[in-house]
Amino acid sequence: MRAARMKELGYEGKVPHVDKENYGTFSIAINSLYPTSVHHGMFESIVKVLGSDQQVSEVWDDIVDYKILGCYAQTEIGHGSDVQGLETEAIYDEATEEFIINSPSVKAYKFWPGDLGKMANHAVVFAKMIIKGEAYGIHAFFFRIRDSESHTPLKGIEIGDIGPKYGYPYKDNGYMAFSEFRVPRSAILSRYVSVSKDGMIELKGDPRIGYATMLWIRVQLLFFGWQVKFSNIAQCVRYTLKRKQFKSLPGTDIERPIFDYQATQDKIVSAICYSYANLTISHFCMDTFYKMEEKVKNEDFSMMNDLHVLISSLKAYCMDYDMTTLYNLRELQGGHGYLYLANIPGWIDAWSPNVTLEGDGYVLFQQTSRKLMKKLKSV
Ligand SMILES: Cc1cc2nc3c(=O)[nH]c(=O)nc-3n(C[C@H](O)[C@H](O)[C@H](O)COP(=O)(O)OP(=O)(O)OC[C@H]3O[C@@H](n4cnc5c(N)ncnc54)[C@H](O)[C@@H]3O)c2cc1C
Repeated sequence: MRAARMKELGYEGKVPHVDKENYGTFSIAINSLYPTSVHHGMFESIVKVLGSDQQVSEVWDDIVDYKILGCYAQTEIGHGSDVQGLETEAIYDEATEEFIINSPSVKAYKFWPGDLGKMANHAVVFAKMIIKGEAYGIHAFFFRIRDSESHTPLKGIEIGDIGPKYGYPYKDNGYMAFSEFRVPRSAILSRYVSVSKDGMIELKGDPRIGYATMLWIRVQLLFFGWQVKFSNIAQCVRYTLKRKQFKSLPGTDIERPIFDYQATQDKIVSAICYSYANLTISHFCMDTFYKMEEKVKNEDFSMMNDLHVLISSLKAYCMDYDMTTLYNLRELQGGHGYLYLANIPGWIDAWSPNVTLEGDGYVLFQQTSRKLMKKLKSV
């Protein structure tokens, strides 16, 4: 009901940026992360960014109708931050015009993709493309992974749920391994790279556009972040106005609301200021991302570098500071703040993986400093 009302408000223009891409808002409305968040946030986005017009038009209606439910299979047991270190192989077989997808070792098992453990019937799989014995870097392949009738993994694919983890308790993060699994040549998402029948590669534009999906998710996290904080701030303000401790007002016998205390106000006002800053910058990032997307459609990649630095460093900073803010809001609700009934522990659980997923904060700060040092040298 609340989610439906949020959508109506969005169409009436009363809530900013409520559209089908903004599932964060609906998550707040239902007080939980959206179950198909990876399908919407990552899978849809990577198909749109890396798929050719023809590929997108062939699958888009089914994606929107949930006939195709997808996941984003990049991270492996052996490598996460270092994407170039991924070991899943896509070996081109010229005779059959197919790619053979293989996990050469247990380190190459895909590990962590959300929506994979139980739900997904398709995946975008990142693999090292090998043609005539030569490796040509990591590329994205789109294909079915589970049977359309029985929903069991297709022959040559092993899939499972990775089991309970801290944060995202309800998300079916999964693992996936390949053994001589064949996909057609057309499985490679081919807006920026294509392979001819005889194994010739054509690269178009800037291959780093593949990271656009990660950038988009980082923007979404920034955008989602202020909504999570404001909803918890509102609750915290209500609680601290009602909750009373100590008859410490001189000359009176009345108990003081904990909101009266300077330390409480300091935490709440800091959280409000930070959340407004987060709101403003996330709108800026989203608008700028859309501008970059338009330019990229015309093969103009000039905005990518600076936007990457801005969004990545903000993601690293905000995800970390969000946790400090949520802990402060939890502390202001004392013992009751530990109850899952109080909502905030659920959000602390749900938000905590964001410091690591979509780019570990430390690694992102390192990348940002490297870029800034480079700019400094060029001044
Ligand atoms: C809840 C959750 C959901 C996820 N969903 C998905 C998904 O849908 N699809 C998907 O593909 N992946 C997913 N992931 C995986 C996630 O993207 C990776 O875990 C993340 O990118 C970090 O990589 P890693 O685990 O290899 O960490 P590592 O890179 O191994 O990092 C471990 C530590 O080493 C440090 N470190 C790494 N490199 C350096 C360096 N150069 N210098 C100094 N320190 C360094 C890091 O700062 C960190 O402290 C998910 C993860 C989680 C937790």
